[in-house]
Amino acid sequence: MADFDLVVIGSGPAGEKGAVHAALHGKRVAVVEREPVLGGTAANTGTLPSKTLRETSLYLSGFRQRGLYGVDTHVRQETTVSDFLYRERRVKGIERERILKDLERHGVQLVYGRGELVDAHTVVVRREGEPERRLTSNVILVATGSSPYRPPLYPFGDPRVHDSDELLDLSELPRALLVVGAGVIGCEYACMFAALGIPVTLVDPKPELLPFLDDEFSALLQERMEALGVRMRLGRTVETVDVPPAAKEPIRLTLSDGEKLEVDQVLVASGRSANTAGLGLEAVGVKLGARGQVVVGPEYQTAVPGIYAVGDVIGFPALASTSMEQARIAVMHAFGLEDPNKMAPVLPYGIYTIPEVSMAGETEESLRAKDIPYVVGRAAFSTNPRGQIIGECHGLLKLLFRREDLRLLGVHVLGEQASELVHVGLVGLMTGASARLFVETCFNYPTLSEAYKTATYDALDKVRAPKGP
Ligand code: FAD
Repeated sequence: MADFDLVVIGSGPAGEKGAVHAALHGKRVAVVEREPVLGGTAANTGTLPSKTLRETSLYLSGFRQRGLYGVDTHVRQETTVSDFLYRERRVKGIERERILKDLERHGVQLVYGRGELVDAHTVVVRREGEPERRLTSNVILVATGSSPYRPPLYPFGDPRVHDSDELLDLSELPRALLVVGAGVIGCEYACMFAALGIPVTLVDPKPELLPFLDDEFSALLQERMEALGVRMRLGRTVETVDVPPAAKEPIRLTLSDGEKLEVDQVLVASGRSANTAGLGLEAVGVKLGARGQVVVGPEYQTAVPGIYAVGDVIGFPALASTSMEQARIAVMHAFGLEDPNKMAPVLPYGIYTIPEVSMAGETEESLRAKDIPYVVGRAAFSTNPRGQIIGECHGLLKLLFRREDLRLLGVHVLGEQASELVHVGLVGLMTGASARLFVETCFNYPTLSEAYKTATYDALDKVRAPKGP
């Protein structure tokens, strides 16, 4: 008999969720983790640290209160790295502890060390100074995550050049920062530093920001980020980088249009690579894609029966939220626990820029591409009483309804609490709701959520007196 029913490699959100789900169904589970701390990118270098730093920069800069009480609450000039990182370290510590307790409470055995598959049912774990361990298991779940991609142009050994992991070891706040890559991570960090009053330049080869967003929201986000002080250099690439050895001399960069920039720190956020090296996957028959990511079927099974892979290691969408769901589905499938176990048909996206942006479902562009007639309802937070109270005057909720029957097809939010507010619309999308749901729902007053009603009436007005979408 195998030692375990399930061995999970990796203790990030995918690994934790998969392990606990199997344990809840009475399975004997082990989790292998190569780091001395649990939680992976989500707890230690990515999701929670970046979201905590965002709150810290909003707090230290007095951003939310600016202009609200007729008092100037601009940046505390003397903000230090330890002010900036204090809460990030606390939140990280609390999350690691929570994960440890969660695994212990469910009887999951923790094995520290680097895991490697030697056959379809055996994981060898190696840790310096300790004898090698062999864990046999009926099912193996690969949840080893991803790491920042490091383009060779940048000298990462220099303490002034960071990837998104190293940024958390800052020794001093930048006086001027260049962010390379305007993906979600690059945009989020650009906003945080800009809110602290630090000059930030954002460079990306794509001509528009986050092109997966509805065009109106991409443009609105760009406008708000520029208002925050982020200098956009879109449609451009970095061609040369000169990092002089003397720390006091500026880093000099040249962009593809010839512009020369001088900054004292650089953050490179140019995507992530799957952590598959050294796992022995290909040797046991697991197929890898062009970028090293594990190739999986609809229930996250790999090419080898009994081996599953979930989370960042399989690539897009590479979010903590989706990674956890994938792990649940893989475990259900592996042990035949429930049917059907499919991924939710609509996934939300939360982008923690300043301001936040969130969306679920269709955009205007995707509806036009599919030739689906639609009607748009908008509600500006400046006309929402709660928006007025909290000084949120640039926020916007946009709903997209199918013109034929007013079924909700898309929800887009920009502004305070956008990543929370989107869930009202998300549930509407999941349940096939129409405009009627928001007309008949009694929302708390005053709330930002009430914007759903306002946006719905705006759409209904357009249906009654059509003037285009
Ligand atoms: P990980 O969290 O990376 O965990 C993988 C674990 O496997 C690690 O602990 C690693 O040490 C371990 N491991 C790797 N190889 C081995 C081995 N051979 N043996 C043993 N252990 C091994 N997602 C969101 O949903 N919302 C956000 O707001 C968000 N913000 C982000 C911000 C940043 C800056 C970054 C970088 C990411 C962000 N993400 C966000 C993405 C999110 O962090 C990842 O999608 C998520 O952590 C993936 O979970 P995972 O379990 O697949 O991998």
